[in-house]
Amino acid sequence: MAGWTLGIESTAHTLSFGLVDPLGNPHPACSDTVRPDEGGIHPREAADHHKDIANSLLTNVLEKYDVHPGDIGIVAYSQGPGLGPCLRVGAAIARGISSRLNTPLIGVNHCVAHIEIGRQQCGCDDPVLLYVSGGNTQVIAHLDGRYRVLGETLDIGIGNMLDKFARTQGIPFPGGPVIEKLASEWLENNPNPSLDGLELPFAVRGMDLAFSGVMTAAQRLLDNGAPLGAVCWSLQEHAFSACVEIAERAMSHTGKTELLLGGGVACNSRLRQMCELMTEERDSTSHAPPRMYCIDNGTMIALLGKIEYQNGRVTSYEQSAVDQYLRTDQTPVTWAV
Ligand code: AMP
Ligand code: MG
Repeated sequence: MAGWTLGIESTAHTLSFGLVDPLGNPHPACSDTVRPDEGGIHPREAADHHKDIANSLLTNVLEKYDVHPGDIGIVAYSQGPGLGPCLRVGAAIARGISSRLNTPLIGVNHCVAHIEIGRQQCGCDDPVLLYVSGGNTQVIAHLDGRYRVLGETLDIGIGNMLDKFARTQGIPFPGGPVIEKLASEWLENNPNPSLDGLELPFAVRGMDLAFSGVMTAAQRLLDNGAPLGAVCWSLQEHAFSACVEIAERAMSHTGKTELLLGGGVACNSRLRQMCELMTEERDSTSHAPPRMYCIDNGTMIALLGKIEYQNGRVTSYEQSAVDQYLRTDQTPVTWAV
């Protein structure tokens, strides 16, 4: 047994340390997210935040589970994709701990980690993954030894779109949860909503998606006097149904019968409901991990690190550089799916 696995997540706004115990059980992570007073996330400022908070977060997670440094047998970190300065902080911490403790180092693919924690938590076998996060929006399925991207956003991630729209209304990061709240409050007062006067472009391009046009059109609705709650509702309906449409097509093409949600936007109850409706109609099932494992977290990094280690992979220091543009399908899936 390799002891505990420490996972370090630092792809973007969140620094997170998570642990998987020697039996392979994941434990909730200790995380901290940078929340700029205004504007979007600045990569270097986020990296500074990660650097400043790292020591106390690491101490917290070890104390929480009464794990001593000598109990750590594997150190895993997000190698990509993500923001370069943020990734480099996580990688540097991982190298430091691995060298100090003389334990194997494993750089993992952040997107693949979202899939594996989802499979582990939901007990699903061979799902189509709808991965909806800040920077990424992809539909993914396991085919021929890789997780293949069957469709994805051609411009910005759905979460970034929601956050940017929210920011234009003075709502601070992360805007997605506030949009959800405004939409559901509006819906309570408008139980039979109509899209009349609230239409937005539909973001599907074949198997791909695009979100920047939807965001601009939503702002125009506000300029023309539509209430914010109504626009939030319409924005969610349009953007989410575009995602669900390509997920459904991916299930149809691949013949797979499980849908798995991952990424921060998968915290959204309306999106979860839409996925359930779609899969029920197909005699299939929809799965969503607990919200703490949808958002970026160190535990999913630890889990994939342990899986990869058990399948014979370690990352040498020479190979440990981060890759901002690492693709989901660049990582060979050497474990059983
Ligand atoms: P991630 O990049 O996976 O950490 O996810 C962060 C993104 O998830 C941000 O863009 C948030 O606005 C978004 N998000 C979090 N919770 C919700 C929610 N309930 N509804 C919509 N978006 C959300
Ligand atoms: Mg993520």
